[in-house]
Amino acid sequence: MSNTMFIARALDASVLERVESGGVVTSILKCALETGHIDGVVTIKAKNNDRFSGIPVLITNPDELLDTIGSLHCSVPNIARFVKEYLDGGVSKKLAVVGKPCDIRAIIELQKRKQMSYRIPHKRCNLKNDKPVRFGKAEYKKRQEFILAKEVCQVCNESYDLDYPHHGLYGLGVKDDRTLVNICVTCHRLVHSTEGCYKSPKSRKEIEVIGWANNDEYEESV
Ligand SMILES: Cc1cc2nc3c(=O)[nH]c(=O)nc-3n(C[C@H](O)[C@H](O)[C@H](O)COP(=O)(O)OP(=O)(O)OC[C@H]3O[C@@H](n4cnc5c(N)ncnc54)[C@H](O)[C@@H]3O)c2cc1C
Ligand SMILES: [Zn+2]
Ligand SMILES: [Zn+2]
Repeated sequence: MSNTMFIARALDASVLERVESGGVVTSILKCALETGHIDGVVTIKAKNNDRFSGIPVLITNPDELLDTIGSLHCSVPNIARFVKEYLDGGVSKKLAVVGKPCDIRAIIELQKRKQMSYRIPHKRCNLKNDKPVRFGKAEYKKRQEFILAKEVCQVCNESYDLDYPHHGLYGLGVKDDRTLVNICVTCHRLVHSTEGCYKSPKSRKEIEVIGWANNDEYEESV
């Protein structure tokens, strides 16, 4: 078997009892909730225990995920609309959304139209083997131009006095060219400053999230 493909199975007996396949979907979501990587999961729950009828729900308690295990063989409409209308488009909460490809496509289209937060990850999975990417000169230049076309600094959202784009994800061995962020000269200095009294308007983690959103936006545009 290829070394980029894995067969996985949940370890938690309470999950394994009811899963559709190996319970990986539920286990990853449970772990993400328990460790605070996300604030909530939007998934599907059977209506009156009927496996052919489901409704979208927001789960914030990891134990309640057990009520959503398994596949409901029906098409649940409006998962994207549920997020947009009732959950503020994912702007105020970090959400993970479980959906079929058609549900996720609706989310991508709303993100493109700026009607939904780019913080909802749909393609990129933060697994440990997601290695940092460095591009060749030509691709890097295209990325830089795409970011600079945003015109305003994405750290203070105010200044137009732009520097070269900054890597949202940087550091020894992890610098990733996919995470470029538009930044002004002042913010760039603050981001790299070690003096505690002059703080960047956004945290390193927040800037990284913007970098990944820029990457999604770029990939959608090409
Ligand atoms: C309608 C449908 C058709 C499928 N057809 C195939 C297929 O042909 N071949 C194949 O290999 N796999 C198919 N799957 C995927 C498969 O059934 C499992 O969902 C997948 O293998 C994950 O298994 P798991 O044990 O990790 O999931 P679990 O840990 O059991 O988690 C499943 C997750 O899916 C969510 N969910 C359940 N029903 C729906 C729904 N209708 N829409 C959106 N989310 C839902 C649950 O709430 C839960 O979060 C299908 C899934 C669905 C929902
Ligand atoms: Zn700035
Ligand atoms: Zn920098």
